[in-house]
Amino acid sequence: TSLKNIRNFSIVAHIDHGKSTLADRLIQVTGGLSDREMKEQVLDSMELERERGITIKAQTVRLEYKAQDGETYILNLIDTPGHVDFTYEVSRSLSACEGALLVVDASQGVEAQTLANVYQAIDVDLEIVPVLNKIDLPAAEPDRVKAQIEDVIGIDATEAVEISAKTGMGVPEVLEAIVTKLPAPDGDADAALKALLVDSWYDPYLGVVVLVRIIDGVLKKGMRIRMMGADAVYTVDQVGVSTPKKTPVDALGPGEIGYLTAQIKEVADTSVGDTITDDRRPTTEPLPGFKPSVPVVFCGIFPVDANDFEDLRAAMGKLRLNDASFEFEMETSAALGFGFRCGFLGLLHLEIIRERLEREFNLDLITTAPSVVYDIHLTDGSKIELHNPADLPDPVRIDHMEEPWIKATIMAPDEYLGGILKLCEERRGVQQDLTYAGSRAMVVYELPLNEVVFDFYDRLKSVSKGYASFDYQIVEHRPGDLVKMQLLVNEEPVDALSIIVHREKAEARGRSMCEKLKDLIPRHMFKIPIQAAIGGRVIARETIAALRKDVTAKCYGGDATRKRKLLEKQKAGKKKMRQFGRVEIPQEAFIKALKID
Ligand code: GDP
Ligand code: MG
Repeated sequence: TSLKNIRNFSIVAHIDHGKSTLADRLIQVTGGLSDREMKEQVLDSMELERERGITIKAQTVRLEYKAQDGETYILNLIDTPGHVDFTYEVSRSLSACEGALLVVDASQGVEAQTLANVYQAIDVDLEIVPVLNKIDLPAAEPDRVKAQIEDVIGIDATEAVEISAKTGMGVPEVLEAIVTKLPAPDGDADAALKALLVDSWYDPYLGVVVLVRIIDGVLKKGMRIRMMGADAVYTVDQVGVSTPKKTPVDALGPGEIGYLTAQIKEVADTSVGDTITDDRRPTTEPLPGFKPSVPVVFCGIFPVDANDFEDLRAAMGKLRLNDASFEFEMETSAALGFGFRCGFLGLLHLEIIRERLEREFNLDLITTAPSVVYDIHLTDGSKIELHNPADLPDPVRIDHMEEPWIKATIMAPDEYLGGILKLCEERRGVQQDLTYAGSRAMVVYELPLNEVVFDFYDRLKSVSKGYASFDYQIVEHRPGDLVKMQLLVNEEPVDALSIIVHREKAEARGRSMCEKLKDLIPRHMFKIPIQAAIGGRVIARETIAALRKDVTAKCYGGDATRKRKLLEKQKAGKKKMRQFGRVEIPQEAFIKALKID
């Protein structure tokens, strides 16, 4: 195909504004799949993604479209992940495109992730076509939303396309806008091969599949290619495009997007942003490349039943095949035995992995307190990155500690503003900006990530009755007055409950954790002290009273069936308990104790 008949684009939107529905509609209208093949939301392929309506791995699809000018165009749609934790992956996908459709729900208007995503598209110089979706809804206000797009984002919305991705109305106009408003790629077919490694994933049949955008030159089957950053050489087995069925082609030329396979063993062997070139005739100038996305939230994951450890390891290995940003390494905890220290891009990523482990691999798991990565500056001048509060060096060796800060953008109807500001202030936030777009307020806060990882999303949802939207990016590490707080149950520290906390917050957190544990840990035959301590100093304390021996006898004495039932129930319940010294701690206590009220 000649370059002028190619369009490469992404769809950017706030979650639930209709990106996947529009993508499906575009595939359907251009005939990429027959109706029978057209399952709803083809691009969100993982079960969990579909259920939660999020896209984690960027997918791509090549559409053929005969435009009103009589010419046939190749439209490559690159899907981008739709959640705050995956912002970084969004920018990578966008850099393979020349344009983007900005989809905004006409009944909702611009939201926090609309902004975050569209700014990323503007940053990589994409041409943007605004699309107002859901105009079939009675609550749709296309004119108001157009004005808002112009006010808040600062792009011209007079020619925004008004559509209903659900009914298909306006979708043909979207296709015309892609052809007429978005620029064609440029590139030189005779130059040495230069291609961008956009993404990679593990396919059970094909092995590692690499998504590429050709800048210059031609990629063919049988070619020896070199990954310039990774400095590795492979022979190409297959070159193809996704329609979204994987379809082999002879070659991919400049401006085209497609996939290759080359006996690559692991996704981790491919680095996104790398430049792929011809080993025999390499390009002289590699592409700028990306920083790899690094995990920012860590937690321990342990099997409830120690016998499941190997199964857990195998399951994590499988998930990692497709998700190089998920990290894990073995960890031993005095309280929880053998498990893994795991790293994630954010809290949602953590939740997704945990749910997949439990659901797809049928494992019962204990997750320890999520922790951010602290920079610990030691008195000898060296620095360590702390992923696990349990590994904190002796305080006498520590000069100071630094914690990651984020810049958060929150949008909500202004009646919820008071609650939102209060929440941000409670979490040590520093207000940067407060503006209005109609009756919606937009606030920008800098916050320590540490204060966001526990239950910030949940609290934000509840103070705004679900109307607030949120987006963040990490800005930098800043010094903080941080201490390690330990929880002692029956005089013994439970490492899985240790947290790093700001000194001013330690006492309140300690008290709340002790109170919660008091309710969460069942009574035993003896009295159990529960203490929160910093160093050797106890800052909060509760006591679980002893169970009187005759209580069970009195209640259940005599009735044999009832007694047996009770025993069975206890046995089943035991599976969810962890023996810790002489005390049994229920699995849920590890999570619930950490919630902040
Ligand atoms: P995404 O998160 O941006 O991918 O959003 P989805 O495409 O998953 O859509 C979110 C929800 O909005 C789904 O329940 C869709 O059925 C619904 N939806 C999408 N487009 C329209 C539309 O044009 N009209 C109406 N009424 N609902 C829509
Ligand atoms: Mg979606």
